[in-house]
Amino acid sequence: MLKTRPPLLYAACAALLALVGATATAPGAVAGPGLTQAASSARAADIPTPEQHFGFAMGTEGKLAAYPDVLRYMKLIAERSDRVDYQAIGPTTMGNEYGTVIISSPKNLRRLDRLVEINQKLADPRRTTPEEARRLAAEGVPFYHLEATIHSSEVGNGQAINDIVHRLATEDSDFTRKVLNNSVVVLVPSQNPDGQHLIIDHFNRTAGTDYRRTYPDLYHKYTGHDDNRDWTMFTQVEARYRLALEKKYRPAIVHIMHQKGNTGSRIFVPPYGGITSENVPANMTTSVSAIGQHAARALAAAGKTGVGSLDYHIFWTLEQPVGYFPFTGSGVYLTEIASVTDYAYPQVSSDGRPLGPQQARMSLVEPYRSHTWTLADIVDYAKIATYAGMEYTADNGEKLLYDNLFAVPHEYLTKGVPSGTFAFVVDAEQRDPYATFEMLQRLEWTEVEIDRATSPFVADGKRHEAGSYVIRMHQPRGNWAHQVLGADRYPEVRDCGDCPVLLPYAEATTSLPLQLGVDVAEVRTPFEAQMERVTSVQPPQVTMPAAPGPKGAYLVRPESYGTVQIVSALQDANITTFRGGRAFRAQGADYPAGTYIVPATPQARNVLATASAKVGLPVTATDRAPKVPGVQLKPKTRVGLLRGVGNMPGGWDMWQFDQYGINYDVVGAQDFQRKSLNELYDTIVVSSGVSRDDIVEGLDPAEYDEAYSWAYGVGEKGWRKLQQFVRDGGTLLAIGDSVQTAQQLLDLPMKPALPEDDDEFTTGGSLLNQEFDPNHPVAWGMPESWPVWLYDTQAWELTDNSGQVVSNYPAEGEVLASGYLRGAEHIRGAANVVSFTVGKGQVVTYGSEITFRSLPRSQFNLLYNAIYHGPAAEVDATALQQLRPRFGPDRTVAPR
Ligand SMILES: [Zn+2]
Repeated sequence: MLKTRPPLLYAACAALLALVGATATAPGAVAGPGLTQAASSARAADIPTPEQHFGFAMGTEGKLAAYPDVLRYMKLIAERSDRVDYQAIGPTTMGNEYGTVIISSPKNLRRLDRLVEINQKLADPRRTTPEEARRLAAEGVPFYHLEATIHSSEVGNGQAINDIVHRLATEDSDFTRKVLNNSVVVLVPSQNPDGQHLIIDHFNRTAGTDYRRTYPDLYHKYTGHDDNRDWTMFTQVEARYRLALEKKYRPAIVHIMHQKGNTGSRIFVPPYGGITSENVPANMTTSVSAIGQHAARALAAAGKTGVGSLDYHIFWTLEQPVGYFPFTGSGVYLTEIASVTDYAYPQVSSDGRPLGPQQARMSLVEPYRSHTWTLADIVDYAKIATYAGMEYTADNGEKLLYDNLFAVPHEYLTKGVPSGTFAFVVDAEQRDPYATFEMLQRLEWTEVEIDRATSPFVADGKRHEAGSYVIRMHQPRGNWAHQVLGADRYPEVRDCGDCPVLLPYAEATTSLPLQLGVDVAEVRTPFEAQMERVTSVQPPQVTMPAAPGPKGAYLVRPESYGTVQIVSALQDANITTFRGGRAFRAQGADYPAGTYIVPATPQARNVLATASAKVGLPVTATDRAPKVPGVQLKPKTRVGLLRGVGNMPGGWDMWQFDQYGINYDVVGAQDFQRKSLNELYDTIVVSSGVSRDDIVEGLDPAEYDEAYSWAYGVGEKGWRKLQQFVRDGGTLLAIGDSVQTAQQLLDLPMKPALPEDDDEFTTGGSLLNQEFDPNHPVAWGMPESWPVWLYDTQAWELTDNSGQVVSNYPAEGEVLASGYLRGAEHIRGAANVVSFTVGKGQVVTYGSEITFRSLPRSQFNLLYNAIYHGPAAEVDATALQQLRPRFGPDRTVAPR
C-alpha cells in the first residue's frame, strides 16, 4: 500500500514547509513600519547592477544571461538585501535547481508566516466567515506570483527579471515602497530551469560557429513546449512544484510571462478573447482584465505601441496556460510578447512594411510603426507590464484578497456550480481500480473533498453500494471538480453568420473519467447518504494468494493500464510469462482473453507481490494452469522508440516508458549502421508526428554538431532497413500522425477517411466513442466500447481485407462522448486501430493519439499489448497448461 504521495511531490511539500519558517528574519533588518530607507540604501550599494554582474545590460543584442548565473545573481541579492529571500524548492527532472525569490518589505518578510496564514484562512471558507474575511483582507497583503519562463525559448522574460529584482531590491521610490509594503512578490525565475540550461547553453556554445543558434530538441526532457499542458495529471515534477507553491502561498494574482510569434501585436495583455467555461469564476477573468488594461495604459504612457488584447482564448479548458490557479481564486495575468530572431537578434521587416498589424482597432489601439523589433524591446515591454501588474496588485490588495481568494471558493461552497450538478458518484467496483486511484489522487492533490459512503444509497434513482465515492459540488473546489469530472459540450459560436466556429484555443474537453477509464455518475438531484471524508487516497490494498501447487500459476487480469507496471517488472526480472489467448475459468472465477499466467516460482511470487502492491491490482492463483492456447512473452523484449527530434509526443512516450519501467532505447541514426535493426530491437514504437522526412533527412550535420548526431537523417538506405526490420519479423507500432509514415514505409492497404477541410470535419481535441474487439490480442482487456482521444490525426479506411480492425468509430449512434465534433458522418464506421502482418513481422497503426500527453490512459494497453505481443511466441493449449516455455536462454524460440 502506498502510504505517501510520489516521493518528489512529498519532497516538494516538505521543502516548502521548511522554508517558510526559515524566512522570518533577514540579516540587517531594522524594526519599524515601512521600509528602512537608510539601511536599504546602504546595502543597495553592495548589490551590483545586472550589467556589472553579467557583463552586459539585459537585452543586449546577441547576449543571453545563462541560467546558473541568473540564480547566482538572485542568491547574491538575497544575501545582500533585506527585501529579498531566495528559496530552493527542489531538483528538476534533469537535476537542476528549481527556486523562488521572495520579495517584499523587511517588515513583511519578518511577518511572512502571518501573511501566509491570512491567505490560507481566506482561501478556506469552511473556517472563515465573510466578516472575518473582511478583517483578514484588511490585515494581509496580496501575493503576486511571477513566473518568468515556462517556455524556455521565450528567453526575453528570463532576462528582464534580473532588472526587476535589482530595482525592487535597491530603489527607494514611491513605486517600490508601495509594491514592497503592500504586496509580496513570489518570483519563479524559471518554471522549467532545465530548458533554460538547454536553450541558453546551446546558444552560447554555438556563438562564433556556423551552427544554428536555436536548440533543436525538446527543452523539457519529456514535455518540451507541452510543459504548460500538464495541469490535470501533474505528471512532471515542475508542475507539482508549481502546484505546491500555489497551495502554500495562495497568490491573489499569478503573472505568467510568455512570448509569442512575431507577426501579431507586440504584446498581448488581458482581457482575453473567445469563449469561457461556466466553471471559470467570473471575477477571475474580470480582475485580470483590469490588470491588463492597467498595463496597456502604462505601456502607452511609456510611448510603447502595438499593445493588443482580446486574444488568447484560454478559458475553455485548463490543460493550457491557466491550469488550476483561477479555480482557487488566483487571477491569471498572462503577457505574451512578440519574439525576435534566434532568441536574441533583431527581427527586421522583410516586406518594407512596419511589423505587426497596422490597422488601429479596439483590440490594438495604437499599431507598432517600426520595422525593427529587438531583445531590448522585449525586456522593456516585459518590465513595464510587470511593474504595472505589481502596482495594480499593491493598490488593490484588500479587494483582491476578498474578491479573489475568499469569495471564489465561498461561492462554490454556498451555491454549488452553475450547471446545477449536485455530485459525482464513483462506484467502488470499477473495471480498473488503478485508474480510479489515479483519478481520485489528482482530485486529492487539487484539494477536492472526497467522501466515501459507509452504507448503500440511491441517487437519481440508481443504487450505489457502500464504499462508493461521492464528490459534492457544494465545496470550495466545486467548480474545479466539475471541470475535470464532467463531460463537455463545446458550444458552436460564430462571430457572424458566415464566420467560422470559434474553436477552442487547445482541447475541447478535460474529462479525467473518460481519459482514465472510470465510470462516474453525474447526479443532479440532491440525496442523503451516510458518508465519511477520505483523508488519504491510496491504491486498493492487495494481498498475495497462498502459493499454488507445483503445476499451478499466478494470474493477473488484463483490464487495468496499471498491469504494464507488473509486466515490466516480470520482464526486468526475466520471469517466464504467458498470456491466455481465450477466456477461461479457474478456481471458480472467469478470466478474459489476455490474462497473464505466470508459473508459480518463489521468484515470480516476490516480483508479483511488490509490483501488484504498487498499483493495487490483485494477483490470484490456480492449482492448474488453464488449457487454452496463448503466447509466451519474449523475455526481456527490446523496445526501440523512434521519437523524432523536438517532437513532443515522442517526449511524452519517453516519460511513459521511463515511468512504467519499459526496457527501451531511443532509436538513433547510429543504429542504422548495423546490418539489421533486428539485432537491436524486437519492437519499434514510432511516436506520433514522426514523418518520412524526419527519418530520411533528419537534422543536417552542417547545422547541428555531434551532440545531435542521433537525429541525423538515415537516408534511403536507412528507410529500407526499417522496411526490412518488419519483413524480417520485427514489430512496428505507429501512433497518430505516424500512421501515414508507416503506410508509406510498407505500402499498407489503407487510406485517410477524413476530409481535409475544417468546415467539413473538425474535432478540436475531443473524446469520441469507439468499439473494440477484446478478442484481438492488441485489444485484450479492453472494454467493448469506450471513448478514444482524437485531436488532429486521421481515421482510416482499409482498401483490402488483409488488415484486422482492432477498433473503429461506431457506425451508428452518438460518436461524440465529450468535447466538439463537426462532420460526424465522415468518421462513422472508420477504422482506428488496425493490425497488419507484413512478411514475418507485425504492424499496428493507431489513428488516434492513444498516448497523447499521457492523458488517454484507458487506451494505453492497446500499445503495451502490441509491444509484447509481436515478439511473443505462440503456445498451444497443452503446452500452456504444462507451462512449457518456448524461449531458450538465448531468447530464441525453441521448435515445438
Ligand atoms: Zn509561451
